[in-house]
Amino acid sequence: MSREILTQVTYLVASVLFILGLRSLTKPDQARRGMNLAALGMLLAIVGTLVKTEIVSYGWIAVGLAVGTVIGYPLGMWVPMTAMPQRIAFSHMFGALAATLVGVAEYHTDLTEGHPISGAKMAALAFEVLFGALTVTGSFVAFGKLAEFLPGRPVTYKGQNGVNLALAAVAVGLFVYLIIRPEFSAGFYLMVGLATLIGLFLVLPIGGADMPVVMSLMNSYAGLAAAATGFALGNEVLIIAGALDGASGFILSVVMSKAMNRSFSNVLFGAFGSVQPTTARTAEGMTVSEISPEDAALQLGYAKSVIVVPGYGMAVAQAQHQIRELAELIEKNGGEVRYAIHPVAGRMPGHMNVLLAEANVPYDRLYDMEEINDRFGEADIALIIGANDVVNPAARTDPGSPIYGMPILNADMARRVIVLKRGMSPGFAGIENELFYRPNTSMLFGDAKASLTRVIAEVKAA
Ligand code: NDP
Repeated sequence: MSREILTQVTYLVASVLFILGLRSLTKPDQARRGMNLAALGMLLAIVGTLVKTEIVSYGWIAVGLAVGTVIGYPLGMWVPMTAMPQRIAFSHMFGALAATLVGVAEYHTDLTEGHPISGAKMAALAFEVLFGALTVTGSFVAFGKLAEFLPGRPVTYKGQNGVNLALAAVAVGLFVYLIIRPEFSAGFYLMVGLATLIGLFLVLPIGGADMPVVMSLMNSYAGLAAAATGFALGNEVLIIAGALDGASGFILSVVMSKAMNRSFSNVLFGAFGSVQPTTARTAEGMTVSEISPEDAALQLGYAKSVIVVPGYGMAVAQAQHQIRELAELIEKNGGEVRYAIHPVAGRMPGHMNVLLAEANVPYDRLYDMEEINDRFGEADIALIIGANDVVNPAARTDPGSPIYGMPILNADMARRVIVLKRGMSPGFAGIENELFYRPNTSMLFGDAKASLTRVIAEVKAA
């Protein structure tokens, strides 16, 4: 088989594996297999590329592989789950940087070696560097906000929308002009520079609470840049993988924006993040009712129907194994335990599913918000473990709240609510939660893992 055919065959198989991998990721019980399929697809794509006759130097590839492994292995193995969002932002930055550098190198080589650049190729190259460079700085700012070395609050200034529009207009103008006159290299590099500024100015004004939507949008942009790279280089697998990445990132942005009550057009144009003065109600003068692990054990041990609502605090405490153990005890006593998963619980999409799967919680006990929200009314207890914003009734009732309109889990509708958290600190959105002060809510203060361990011991002793 000639090298070219071998490359095409591996690309085809790799593309099919990417699609199957994505498909499997839609179901928790098949997600692991999906990851393996996609990883195998990536391996084939790399092998298919390495046998290509155009490869100039295997030496540099080996260096890249070594450097990539040294950076990638610790990122994959040692970064804790709670830091995953910033890690993903960091990886996007590198992906987009690679696409931008490939675009710049291809343009530079064509110009210096005197290869004519067709309008179509120039359009692909310009698109690649525009979206690539924008994603590099955009992802960097998202990384900084999530890692908290940049301010999480929206950084705004007067006339910011005008500046952004002007920058975008000049960049698009250069884009169009380059298609007509590809040899205008100053314009090309100016466009790259402007795109890096646009990335900065687009994400800086967005508050930390909107970062998940930003991240998946950046994911989509990076995918589009990769697809454009594929067009510019004539590389089929890059076109397919980039298109899949771009489309799935975009769909995820829309799903998440709905879950966080951001409008579709906000996502599309990246114009979100305006600071709204909040008149959210505060809990002044209200009291909470605190319970001990013994009380909680008494209620949970004999409950017939419990819905667990995990949130970011479960990830911090790494309490997933204790939750599963407690659930098994409740089930042994004849109760039923289900898990309600909010699409933006935790700090990344699928955060709760991953942790609960790690603790071997059966997949069929996990319910999406739409599936379970009507069931809270029948539940004896809603057991909230380190969740806050995703159960805040202000999203339903208080038009002054920054999360007003965000769909929430109806935990407040359960007969009793038990909340495990360390104190009265707010969640990610930084706002009070009136649910904690309601008469049918009991607070069990402490680290979720430690509290659950004590509850388990009490249930066992009973
Ligand atoms: P929240 O961030 O609203 O609340 C988490 C709560 O966990 C805090 O109030 C904290 O209270 C408690 N907590 C922290 N550590 C522990 C611990 N060790 N033991 C027990 N409790 C603990 O979490 P939710 O999951 O309810 O909501 C997610 C929020 O994050 C939403 O606002 C969402 O928009 C946002 N977001 C979501 C992303 C995603 O893709 N899923 C990404 C980025 C942001 P205390 O300190 O008192 O213990």
